[in-house]
Amino acid sequence: MRTLAIDIGGSKFSMAVFENGRMARRESRETDKDGGREWMLAQIVPLAREWRGEAAFDSCGIGFGGPVKYLEQRIALSTHVGGWRDFPLAAYIETELGVPCIMDNDANLGALGEARFGAGRVAGRGAGQTPERRVTKPLSPLFYMTLSTGIGGGIIHEGTVWRGADSYGGEIGHLTIRPNGPECLCGARGCFERMCCGLWLEKDYGKSAKELLEDPVFVASYVVDLALGLKACIMLLNPARIVIGGGIAKAGAALFVPLRVELRRQITAWSGARIDVVPAALADDSVLWGALALVEAPRGTGT
Ligand SMILES: [Zn+2]
Repeated sequence: MRTLAIDIGGSKFSMAVFENGRMARRESRETDKDGGREWMLAQIVPLAREWRGEAAFDSCGIGFGGPVKYLEQRIALSTHVGGWRDFPLAAYIETELGVPCIMDNDANLGALGEARFGAGRVAGRGAGQTPERRVTKPLSPLFYMTLSTGIGGGIIHEGTVWRGADSYGGEIGHLTIRPNGPECLCGARGCFERMCCGLWLEKDYGKSAKELLEDPVFVASYVVDLALGLKACIMLLNPARIVIGGGIAKAGAALFVPLRVELRRQITAWSGARIDVVPAALADDSVLWGALALVEAPRGTGT
């Protein structure tokens, strides 16, 4: 089984080949935001054809950094890169490469990747044996949030992506957390994404998120907004675990320790909901692994 996985993000895109469940090739490049859709397709298709030259693909999975109409397999739009509105990307790649293709929002696939192969699993009975025989069991429900250029969310319930009635479920990035806050790219004010994502941190403070998060004073105020968004998720879903991926999550304990303390402070006192918030285990590859998981079981036939 040879699977092509594609992850199209706002600041970079990645591609990988999985052979029988093992990542055999991987490439990641910066996204030219001004190049829009045409530029992106001109990168992806030739590289995929080059890899196809080594051996045919059996399937292709794509994660896209923006809302995707899953049932129609069309991109709704991208707020970060132009030219994608209502584009049938899966059908396009299918025609260009001659391989069955399926697509979902990148946060949904990040969630699926972590649920199936990463931080969404804990050691089960029989743990402690060799890694190949390690027994793990899934944590459910699982909430995954990507915290990078933008903010996206994905919900996994019993091994399946919970997309909602119109495949817009999990869009935590546009929850209002500061009603009088600055205007977001979506037109509303004070969205979670507007207050906490990498793109706006850089615009507002003139420094990269990485630099900002090295300052404990900044982190102390940042986690207040971050916890406001995650509180909504905890109160609504009572997830067994929240996994945070994307570049900002790489700050590690400097971010996660104060975030957990702030969440404990904000969560309604009588709520017994757990506060289990961890960084992604698959680092930059959650979406690629999720694309593999989607191809293997597009309708989520369990874990
Ligand atoms: Zn917004």
